Amino acid sequence: MGLVVQKFGGTSVGSVEKILNVAECVREEKLKGNNVVVVVSAMGKTTDHLVSLAKEISAQPNKREMDMLLTTGEQTTIALLAMALTQKGLPATSFTGWQAGIITEPVHGNARITKINSEAIKSQLSEGKVVIVAGFQGVTEIGEITTLGRGGSDTTAVALAAALDADKCDIYTDVTGVFTTDPRYVKNARKLLDISYDEMLELANLGAGVLHPRAVEFAKNYNVKLVVRSSMEKIEGTVIEEEATMEQNLIVRGVAFEDEITRVTVLGLANSLTSLSTIFTTLADHHINVDIIIQSTTESNMTNLSFSIKTDDLNETLNVLEDYKELLKYERIEAENHLSKVSIVGSGMISNPGVAAKMFEVLAANQIQVKMVSTSEIKVSVVVEEKVMIKAVESLHDAFDLSEENE
Ligand code: ASP
Ligand code: MG
Repeated sequence: MGLVVQKFGGTSVGSVEKILNVAECVREEKLKGNNVVVVVSAMGKTTDHLVSLAKEISAQPNKREMDMLLTTGEQTTIALLAMALTQKGLPATSFTGWQAGIITEPVHGNARITKINSEAIKSQLSEGKVVIVAGFQGVTEIGEITTLGRGGSDTTAVALAAALDADKCDIYTDVTGVFTTDPRYVKNARKLLDISYDEMLELANLGAGVLHPRAVEFAKNYNVKLVVRSSMEKIEGTVIEEEATMEQNLIVRGVAFEDEITRVTVLGLANSLTSLSTIFTTLADHHINVDIIIQSTTESNMTNLSFSIKTDDLNETLNVLEDYKELLKYERIEAENHLSKVSIVGSGMISNPGVAAKMFEVLAANQIQVKMVSTSEIKVSVVVEEKVMIKAVESLHDAFDLSEENE
C-alpha cells in the first residue's frame, strides 16, 4: 500500500462546498488503495483577515500571540474536513501541528521545522484512517505554538512526506500547475510538464507564488516527488523532481517577477577595507534583507554603493542608515521606488553562454532600461521600472520561446 500526502491551499478549501470537493479528492486517492495524509491551509482569506484584526489592535502585535491567533485558521479547516470525510464514510482524524508532532525552532512567525515525531500519525494510518494535519504550524520543544511563515502549509506537506517516506506529495491549488510565467498577467504563459528542484527553487525565491521556497528546498533535500495540480480540474499537473526532461531543449524554463522593489544608493562612502562589512552587518542586525548589491569607486576614490530591498523595508533602512551615519561615514543617501525585479531561470544556462547577453538585447530592443543586474548559475535578474515590468516579462517570455504559440 502506498502513501500519498495531499495538500490543499486556501482557495481550495474556501467554502463548505469546496471542502466537500476536497473530501472527494481524498476519497479518490483512498480508492486507489493508498494511505492518505492531508494537509490543509486556512479557508480562503482567513489568515489575511486574522492579520488585519490584530493590526486593528496593535501596529506590531506580540509575535507569540500572533502565532496563537493565526493557527486558529488551519484548525477550523481540519475539523470541517474530518467531518466531511466521516460523512462520506471515510474514517478520518484531524491533528493540529503539535498533535502531529511537528517540532520547530523557537522562533515566532517564521519558524523552521527541526523534527517530526510521526508516531501519532502512523498509528492512525495503521488503523486505516485518513489523517488531516493543519498546515503552517508547529510547536517548540517547550510547547510554544509557532508558525512557519506565510504560505508555509506547503512546507508542512513536504516535511510530512519526507518524514513518512511518502511516495509523493500532491500540492492541490487554484492553478493547474507551474507555468512559464504568471498566467494571470501573461496570457501566453504555458504549463510546464516538469521542472527540476533547482529551477523551481529559483522561481519560488524570485516571486513565483505557486510554491513556498522552503517547501521546494525540503523536497530537494529529501528527494520528495512533488506534483502541483488543480483541485478543481482533473488534469495532469507539473512534476518537480531532480532531473527534469529538457522540454523542447529550452534554455530558459521560466520568467519570474516581483514588484515593490526599491534601490537605495549610499554615496560617498569612505573607501576603507571594512566599510562594506560595517554597512551590511548593521543592516543585517536590523533584519533588513538586502538583495542585489552594486559597488563602484568614484574618481575621488570614494565608494558608491547601491542595493535593492523590498519597498516595505525602506523606512526602516533609512532610519538605520541615518542612526549609524557617524559609524558608516557616507555623504548622502538616495532611494528610488517603484522598481521591480524580472528574472529568467533555466538549468540550461550552465552550458549555454550568451543568455544574459540575449536578455539585455531583448530589453534594449523594447526600450527597457536595466537598473541593476544579478546572476547565478541558473538565473539572470534585472531591476527595471515597475511600469515596464509586464512588458519586460512578455518580451523575454517570447524571445526565449516560452509562449504557447511556439509549441
Ligand atoms: N494560511 C497560511 C497563509 O495564508 C499558510 C498557507 O496558506 O500556506 O499564509
Ligand atoms: Mg500557498
